[in-house]
Amino acid sequence: MAKVEFFGVRGSHPTPRTENLRFGGNTSCVLVYSDDDSGREFPIIFDLGTGLTRLAQELDPSQIFSGVSFVSHLHFDHIQGLPFFWPVDRVGSRLRILAPSEVDLTAKESFDLLFSSPFFPVKLGDLRGEIVIEPLDPGSMTLDQPGNPIVTVSHVSHTNSTYGYRLEIDGKVIVYIADHQAPLDSHSVDDSVVELCRAADLLIHDAQYTSDEFQQKSHWGHSTYNFAVQVALQSGVKSLAFYHHDPGRTDDELDRIEKSFEAVAIASGMLVFAAREGMKLEI
Ligand SMILES: [Zn+2]
Ligand SMILES: [Zn+2]
Repeated sequence: MAKVEFFGVRGSHPTPRTENLRFGGNTSCVLVYSDDDSGREFPIIFDLGTGLTRLAQELDPSQIFSGVSFVSHLHFDHIQGLPFFWPVDRVGSRLRILAPSEVDLTAKESFDLLFSSPFFPVKLGDLRGEIVIEPLDPGSMTLDQPGNPIVTVSHVSHTNSTYGYRLEIDGKVIVYIADHQAPLDSHSVDDSVVELCRAADLLIHDAQYTSDEFQQKSHWGHSTYNFAVQVALQSGVKSLAFYHHDPGRTDDELDRIEKSFEAVAIASGMLVFAAREGMKLEI
């Protein structure tokens, strides 16, 4: 059994306001770990949005931190929490970050920009702990930790270089696709995406827009609820979490959207729900 905890479920920018606090206002960050005796000792973190600061608040300040993060891409909402992730500012702490590079900028060069004046007063190399940023190519890799989880990396369509991730851990499959450009018909799914998601126990997928909103924002790099469902159905996944909620989406709207997919869920036998900050799942 694997454990999944949502620390940030919002897309584009943080949006802490009364109307959406039930689902949460922090941007992309999901923690996955093996449900063995080690607990959160070997954390795998998808994206470093402002949800990462909420994770920091839950960590024991007397302990050093060690973990690995897979970043979907370098848009601000997916990395904004890293400068404030104080657990790595401690001697002995280590965070390994794997992320896609841009055509003219490696992931390391991009993070160096983030950790530089005037954007932030501390440089990466000035932290007391260690942040190691590694380039990442599509393919599969085995993590050097108990249980040897396997991560498969694949390009997904967005506005810049973006990865989707398939994690096999404790005999379960969790797929993370934070930002994903839907096609105009909201139906045809790339073969590579179907392959990445195939028979997953949980698919965490971009669902930023309604079909009506997509009419105006079809080139903004994101999915509709219907397209997320299409990806899930065509890939035969067991459960689908709508993710990367539009910052303007209220809790009441998300309740209504969840309810509107109940019939699809019953007909397909697939669990469909909207991810919310603080949600903990056992897969
Ligand atoms: Zn995003
Ligand atoms: Zn993006």
